[in-house]
Parts: sequence; structure tokens; C-alpha cells
Amino acid sequence: MVEKRTPIAVSAAIKQVLEHAFPLGSEKVDLEDSYGRILAEPIVASTDVPPFNRSPYDGYAIRSADSTGASGENRIAFNVIDHIGAGEVSAKMLNAHEAIRIMTGAQLPDGADAVVMFEQTVETPDAITIRKPFEPLENVSLQGEDVQKGEVVIDSGSFINPGTIALLATFGYSQVLVAKQPVVGILSTGTELLDVGDELVPGKIRNSNGPMIVAQLKRMGFRCKMYGMSIDRLDESFNVVKKAAEETDCLITTGGVSVGDFDFLPAIYKRLGAEVLFNKVAMRPGSVTTVAVANGKYLFGLSGNPSACFTGFELFVRPALLKMMGAGKLFLPHTKAVLGEDFTKANPFTRFIRASYDGETVSPAGFNKSNAVSSIARGNALIVLPGGTRGFHLGDAVDVLLLGAEEGSGKWQL
Ligand code: AMP
Ligand code: MG
Repeated sequence: MVEKRTPIAVSAAIKQVLEHAFPLGSEKVDLEDSYGRILAEPIVASTDVPPFNRSPYDGYAIRSADSTGASGENRIAFNVIDHIGAGEVSAKMLNAHEAIRIMTGAQLPDGADAVVMFEQTVETPDAITIRKPFEPLENVSLQGEDVQKGEVVIDSGSFINPGTIALLATFGYSQVLVAKQPVVGILSTGTELLDVGDELVPGKIRNSNGPMIVAQLKRMGFRCKMYGMSIDRLDESFNVVKKAAEETDCLITTGGVSVGDFDFLPAIYKRLGAEVLFNKVAMRPGSVTTVAVANGKYLFGLSGNPSACFTGFELFVRPALLKMMGAGKLFLPHTKAVLGEDFTKANPFTRFIRASYDGETVSPAGFNKSNAVSSIARGNALIVLPGGTRGFHLGDAVDVLLLGAEEGSGKWQL
């Protein structure tokens, strides 16, 4: 008799998965290796930024009070007493009607409180004249205007982007505390599977899920441990899964989670003593997606159907791995878009359609059954159509999840 499974809603499934994330701990890495990692400490400003009042232009530092009353008819003259570039500090103090020639980024000299741009002056060898009055602090980049000392500038759990790197460098972090990355194993199951380099023979197909998941992990900056392919035999598969589960923080298997005669993952979970969180999700594709936990470690049982496998990874594996690292933004970025063509198939379950999104319109990316490979390649997004709907039409507003963004969203909005 076929086992009866009770489907769980996608959001509930994601929530359950996340509840079982165990923290991976942290490690120090060199700043230049920290791009793409998750910060494991808050970044507190050790100095003001900028650390001193400085000139944002090439020009002349003056005392603004000396410019009072300047106009086209009443040009005011300043003696130029020094010349400084960025990184230099003038030893001179400005007195009445004196100016110091100053370059962008140089610290304002003592006494100066305004900068006159070159374009605002008429220059003679030792002096300048100006034709407008300057306010105190006009054209001055103020100490601490960007960041103030002691401020928490970046929270722990943030994705380290190029801007974060700039900030870390600003504060002198040659090393950064980041979350350890999970060791993720991949095992493709199916007697029908051939290696990429194998010749096709009747009844067989090449394993495309394994390499695809490697790339999905790579896109997140992770490496993985490959456990190759296993044929659909309980004992063999069990041994590989057991070994892989011991050697990794998280094992992703593809195939074998359905109710077919050769789908052995359910039996393997049982034999391992794993807690199965769910084995049916109210979604298409990938309703057979199964997530189990054994010894605190995740066992993701993704469908063998390529589109289902892909979607299962993005919906469940991705946020779980990020949660293990304490990341703040776990989910795929979400947007609304205009449907570019009719999609009239009814949706008993929430449907995820591989799609291409151009910033405004989103359209299914071709052949869209759960066994499709081509639409994964053509798509850059997933259209999400809620369960219990009859179909959608060109021009309807639909939910879209964006794929491949380096930073996710902090909220699951569906
Ligand atoms: P399963 O989930 O094992 O029932 O497999 C569902 C479908 O996906 C079958 O048509 C399989 O042949 C196919 N499939 C399973 N594993 C892979 C794989 N690694 N790469 C490509 N297709 C696969
Ligand atoms: Mg199979």
C-alpha cells in the first residue's frame, strides 16, 4: 500500500527547517579573504570617519570671517602662505586674510574653516581674490560626518560585501571574525544515473543534479564534498548516506524520496534514526522534498526531478545554511512583477515557476514541468503562484523570488 503523506505549507516547512539549524561557530580570516562571508562580530567604529576635518576639493583654505562682504565689485584678497596635499599637515596657522593652497583630502589647517574651490578664485603668484562670502564650514568635510567613533556600523550576521570590506579596512581590521562555513555533502541517487563523461546508453541519463547543486553552493561561496552517485539499493545507499552524514554538517541527496519501489531514502532515514521534519510540501515542483535531522545535522532529501531539486535547494537548503552561520538575511529577495504571459494551469499547491525577470515583467522560462532542465538554465527568478488559485493572466501582478543575488532578504514575504 502506498504510504499516505500529509503536505505541509511551504512557509511552515521553511520555519521547521530553520528551527533545526545548529550554529557552526566562527573563525578569523584575513580581510582579503572575507568577501562573501558572514560577519560573526559587530563592527564598532574605532575612529570617527573622516578622522579630521578635511577639504573635499582642490582649492584654498581660508577663515570664512575674512570673506564677509566679498562680491564682484568688491573682490577680497588673500595671501597664500602655504601649500598642502592630501596626507600633509600644514605647520602654519592662518591669520587674517591668509589662505593655504589645499588639495582634496588634506586636513584643514589651524584657523581655517572654509575652502574656496580653484574655480571660485582669481589667482596671482602669491595671492588669490574671491568674489563671494563663505559660511563657516562651507566646503568642509567634517570629522565624523560619515561615521562616529563607537557607533555599531555593521551588525553581526551581515554579509560581507565590497562596502563592508572598505569599512573594515577603514577601521584597521586586517583580520575579521566570520562564521565558519558548513561542510556540505552531495550524493545523487538513482540507478539510471551516468557520469557527465559517460556515453548515453538505453534507459540511462547523465547526473545533472549533482553538478547543479555544486554550482548552487558555489554561488553562496561554499565548497562541497562529493559523494558521487549511488544506485538504488538500500544497503549500498545506506552506507554512503551514513558515512556522508558523519563527515559533513549537512548532506544533500537527490532522488529516492518518493514512494516508488526503489525510493530508499525514507527507509534510510529510519535506519539512521533520523527525525523526519516533513516528507511532503504543498508545492510544485518538489512536493516530495524531505528534510530530516540526524545527530543535529541536516539531511536534505531533494527530489531527483531537476527543477524540483533546484527549487528545493533555493527554498530550504539555502536559508538553512545561512542560518547555521548566524546570517541575518536568509531568504531569496522578493519582488512583485507583471506576468508577461498567461499561466492558466490551476494551482492546487503553491507553484514555483522558473522564470525570467527583466525588472518589470516576469515570464515562465520555457518548458516548466518538474523534470525540466532547460528552464532552470534560462531563468533568473521564480514566479510564485499561491495554492488554491485557478490560473493567472498576462498583466497580473505576481510574486517573484530573485535568484543569484549575493545578499538575501531578511524576511520571507510569501
Ligand atoms: P526520483 O526523485 O528518484 O524519483 O527521480 C525523479 C526523476 O528525476 C527521474 O526521472 C530521475 O531519472 C530524475 N533524476 C534523478 N536523479 C537525477 C539526477 N541526479 N540528475 C538528473 N535527473 C535525475
Ligand atoms: Mg530515483
